[in-house]
Amino acid sequence: MPKHFNTIKRYLTNEEKCDRAEYFNEFCEGFETVDVEAFVKKDIFDESIVLKCLNCGFQEEVDYDIISEMWNEFESDYPESYCMKCNKPDVVPLDVYNRIKGLK
Ligand SMILES: [Zn+2]
Repeated sequence: MPKHFNTIKRYLTNEEKCDRAEYFNEFCEGFETVDVEAFVKKDIFDESIVLKCLNCGFQEEVDYDIISEMWNEFESDYPESYCMKCNKPDVVPLDVYNRIKGLK
């Protein structure tokens, strides 16, 4: 299903991947440890999304993981949430905001 908005992907540097794998191995009780070298060779990225409030214009960048968990993509084309600032259910992805406001 095509997305109606963009997300921001930031690839981790080798150093960050190394840190992450080592951190995991240190606290992985009960799980298999990660092969640090193999992990560093993979493309790992953090994905985030910029959300903006249609009501007050409040803008924030959040982890896409959080958004995708609360969003049922079969029910709506894009996630909507409540604004931290004005408490209205008018927070949408920035691309959707621009489209609705006629900015693009
Ligand atoms: Zn707002």
